[in-house]
Amino acid sequence: MSELPQKPVFRFAPSPNGALHLGHAYSALLNEQLARKTDGRLLLRIEDIDQTRCTPALEAQMISDLAWLGLDFAPPHRRQSDHFEDYRQALDQLIGRGLAYPAFMSRGDIRAWIGDQERETGKPWPRDPDGAPIYPALDRHLSASAREARIASGEPFAWRLDMEAALAMVGEELSWLETGEGPSGAHDIIAAEPAVWGDVMLARRDTPTSYHLSVVVDDALQGVTDVVRGRDLFFATAIHRLLQHLLSLAAPRYHHHRLILGDDGTKLSKSKGDTGIAALRDAGIDPVTIRIKLGFR
Ligand code: GLU
Repeated sequence: MSELPQKPVFRFAPSPNGALHLGHAYSALLNEQLARKTDGRLLLRIEDIDQTRCTPALEAQMISDLAWLGLDFAPPHRRQSDHFEDYRQALDQLIGRGLAYPAFMSRGDIRAWIGDQERETGKPWPRDPDGAPIYPALDRHLSASAREARIASGEPFAWRLDMEAALAMVGEELSWLETGEGPSGAHDIIAAEPAVWGDVMLARRDTPTSYHLSVVVDDALQGVTDVVRGRDLFFATAIHRLLQHLLSLAAPRYHHHRLILGDDGTKLSKSKGDTGIAALRDAGIDPVTIRIKLGFR
């Protein structure tokens, strides 16, 4: 792993596709607390690559809710949709080294193909740690001319990582330093197992990047030393470590934290208005009460 700069750099990286809720607030406040304790800097990154769901109005609302909570982020704020060119360059590196391929199957194609497969074999198709089916990768070994012909005919496609080729290129065990806790409470050095994700998406049909690609590019570009985020992203860290290795990017430390659950025990979502920060403010609750409720002073 490359050397990390001395002063810690933290980031809070919300996607403005809904209202800021208590789960976000917990993550942002924990970042703030850890940055303060370590004399580090806290950055804000707006993860808005999904331009159909993320809107300027939601972004403005999120920023104002964060300010109301008393959170202060070091400038400049990075907005991912302003930096598609950075992600394109990283993607081009992977394509140039034969590690990415155009994937033509739509979600519907994938669903239908897997359904047939499961009926024929009587066995469930393998799933990734998030429960999504592993990409069937029928087009991984298409000839260059077949690919070109399909692209030239205007067929839509995404870019996917050739996981097998990528792992062969790495040729060593990947790991990360976990300072928080994983689903099993484990911490310390965690062995990364990216293979369980299959050929992950690097750029979507309608977006020139993906969450995984842009998050590793930005963490490196912003000099982030400490990624503090929800435990729901624990297993995805294996993909991030792989991409960092392939793109020669420094590896941050990771701290995955507990998720704030709703009263019904399920994960909070942006559509659940009752735990939205703006809704709590409108109900007369003040920022100090929210901090205390979440376990901060
Ligand atoms: N943008 C992601 C989210 O809102 C967080 C990504 C990260 O912290 O790595 O869930």
